[in-house]
Amino acid sequence: MVSIVIPAFISSRKNKLWKMTAASYGFFLLRLWTVLSSMVTTSIARDIITATESLRDGETLVSASGNFELGFFSPGSSTRRYVGIWFKKIPVQTVVWVANRNSPIYDSSGVLQFNNNSVLALVNGTGVFVWSTNSSRSVPNPVAQLLDSGNLVIRNGKDDTVLWQSFDYPCDSQLPGMKLGRDIVSGFDRFLTSWKSSDDPSMGSYTYRIDPRGYPQPFLMKDDVVQFRDGPWNGVWFSGTARLPTDSTQEYKFVYNNKEISYVYELINISVITNRIVNPYGNIQRQEWNNHTQGWATFYSKPIDNCDTYGVCGVFSSCNLVKNPQCQCMKGFVPNSSTDWNAGDWIGGCVRSAPLNCSVKDGFIKYANVKLPDTRYSWYNITMTLDECRTKCLHNCSCVAYANSNVTHGGSGCLLWIDSVIDVKVIAGSGQDLYVKVPASELGGDGKKRVWIAIGSTLSAVMFLCVVAIFIAWRRRRKREVHKNNNNEGESDLPIYAFDVIAQATNYFSLSNKLGEGGFGPVYKGVLSDGQEVAVKRLSKDSRQGLDEFKNEVIFIAKLQHRNLVKLMGCCIEAEERLLIYEYMPKKSLDNYLFDPRSIDLLDWPKRLEIIMGIARGLLYLHQDSRLRIVHRDLKASNILLDFHMNPKISDFGLARSFNGNEDEGQTKRVVGTYGYMSPEYTIDGLFSVKSDVFSFGVLLLEIVSGKKNRGFNHPDHHHTLLGHAWMLFKEGVALDVVDPLIRNSSYLSEMQRSIHIGLLCAQQHPEDRPSMSLVTVMLSSDSELPQPKEPGFYVERYLPQESVSGNTQSSSNSDSVTLLVGR
Ligand code: AMP
Repeated sequence: MVSIVIPAFISSRKNKLWKMTAASYGFFLLRLWTVLSSMVTTSIARDIITATESLRDGETLVSASGNFELGFFSPGSSTRRYVGIWFKKIPVQTVVWVANRNSPIYDSSGVLQFNNNSVLALVNGTGVFVWSTNSSRSVPNPVAQLLDSGNLVIRNGKDDTVLWQSFDYPCDSQLPGMKLGRDIVSGFDRFLTSWKSSDDPSMGSYTYRIDPRGYPQPFLMKDDVVQFRDGPWNGVWFSGTARLPTDSTQEYKFVYNNKEISYVYELINISVITNRIVNPYGNIQRQEWNNHTQGWATFYSKPIDNCDTYGVCGVFSSCNLVKNPQCQCMKGFVPNSSTDWNAGDWIGGCVRSAPLNCSVKDGFIKYANVKLPDTRYSWYNITMTLDECRTKCLHNCSCVAYANSNVTHGGSGCLLWIDSVIDVKVIAGSGQDLYVKVPASELGGDGKKRVWIAIGSTLSAVMFLCVVAIFIAWRRRRKREVHKNNNNEGESDLPIYAFDVIAQATNYFSLSNKLGEGGFGPVYKGVLSDGQEVAVKRLSKDSRQGLDEFKNEVIFIAKLQHRNLVKLMGCCIEAEERLLIYEYMPKKSLDNYLFDPRSIDLLDWPKRLEIIMGIARGLLYLHQDSRLRIVHRDLKASNILLDFHMNPKISDFGLARSFNGNEDEGQTKRVVGTYGYMSPEYTIDGLFSVKSDVFSFGVLLLEIVSGKKNRGFNHPDHHHTLLGHAWMLFKEGVALDVVDPLIRNSSYLSEMQRSIHIGLLCAQQHPEDRPSMSLVTVMLSSDSELPQPKEPGFYVERYLPQESVSGNTQSSSNSDSVTLLVGR
């Protein structure tokens, strides 16, 4: 590749010399290079295309200071050709704009040139226009120029008026100086759309755009469904995101007037190379180029946690990661459906426990540090004071909450919410004050009323308990009858699928549908007749796990419902066939990514922390919040499945055990689980409890942070497991050395340090020293001081128990689970 640099005085658009006609000296030189370029593949450092020139595949434009380059490229492993703009000064090609994103060229015949109407067009080898600009005016001498901002502009060569610019047609990236938002007069909207994948820049499912309804706010959408909301601009930041410490490299501007709604950021330090993108997995990320690591560092990635999922807690409740459960009804409200609520499904939200008086007797409860509710259906006035706002809300029966719209100068402006509030998140140390209307009785004023409410609630609770007791008795009797009548091996209320239906859905269990193989047998992808995708586990005849595990899985999972547990949709028992039908997890299991360095794009630190949090919540639900108290007994990376958004779901309940009443520990002679994840007391004495799951969680956490397997961990200086290695580094005060080198250079080092610390607390040798999962979730989502961990269990590889176990040890090539018989 030959790179020829034309002197700045020639390439600068501002230079008068360059503005001369095609007969000028500079132009002559350019023509010469164009001719030369057809003979050798050249990167010609010109920054313009004039009406008489073209840009062929292999040639590029380079902006005046060499910040950006425009040319033909093929993304990832694709061979298709696209015209795009990328950063020029970094070694990793990072494309920020693509012209023909939805219409690639299939060979190197593409040419970019002006047609007679000032339209810059991309033409393929057969002369077909695959992409073109839509300049509003036709001028005799249009010029396309790549600016140092990364903007490709088309100007009238005569008077420099801009006819078209690429910044008006964003792809997945917002560069500094690029406006997102809407021209209110013309309705023209600029928003980001993700690529389909890193190999395919065509329009993906995710968009990030400002919704002008009510009081404007940016939304991340998947097709038409809201995924995440940044909250309204409050004069300083978007109220739904943590307020960044004073940013010395960038400044932000949000404009909202009767002409436009727009958001732009500018660089203060122009040497920083930065970008904001919506990636194909639905994350909005601010990236900064790190010269030391020669890689991109993610400054932030949104959504950050479960509380960022739009409306996860439904109406009139707030989401707080530190609380358990994370969704809490606002004061004066109760769950709309307590059954769903207790099962971890909070979307139904909360309803008032007592109606409003709709008079001045009503009052307000203040929620500090929250992300303001969705403002699409709110009313606003930017000149009102907070007191005026309160009065306005009090006098409007439909008004349910109010807040300042702007936080500068002590607060100003008024936002009113009508009928309901949704998507409120507690953001410690940030967020705004929200005032929610409640009847006087909730404010402690009306004692009598409260007594009546208390009596009413007690009576309802007693009645509810009676109904539940009758229902349970009825269910037990019915179950006994069903069992007696047809010796049913499944749970009677779990949908039963006909074998033919599942066979058809999985293409008759064809090899091409096979997703993997576990201890239970092969797993196939299926599509039911209504289009729903499912995963089907087929118990194989020589399955290491047997009918018992099948029953176990049906009995446990059918009763559980939580966003971090894989959902069992039904089963099939016909003749010899035993099938389990689950919701399909498109990203399969965590181990596929964790131990593969090529997956780093999918597993940056924020994603890893989200996965850790999700697993912790799922486990907490099993241990504490579900109707049964369940010990999973085989928690490991391959039993964590990932949905499309890489949200983790615990799977494989074949080995799970439940506890009744006050029981909190069990013992077995048949120890089943996976080396490296099993706690010492379980492996040696067969003792299992929620704390043995906590041990496995600690190991898994360290694997997620390090990207390495605990068992089989290799180090030239010692024979320790990953756990032992992490423990040594922690004691030496260099715990961060255990972090996966692929993510070590990021701005999240303190979160990583804290996670390692928590992992070591979970993996301590003695169960009584390990924290409960509820404490783990609190520690993971707060800055509270952590106790010092004691020595972990099984941290030297050769002490892992395979040699010490007497009796039967089974293992299969498909799965690393083992069964041990331990003597007591
Ligand atoms: P298991 O029997 O649960 O160990 O599953 C074996 C393999 O099948 C897993 O490692 C996954 O790759 C795949 N698999 C299992 N369940 C699902 C599911 N619900 N969706 C997608 N893939 C799955």
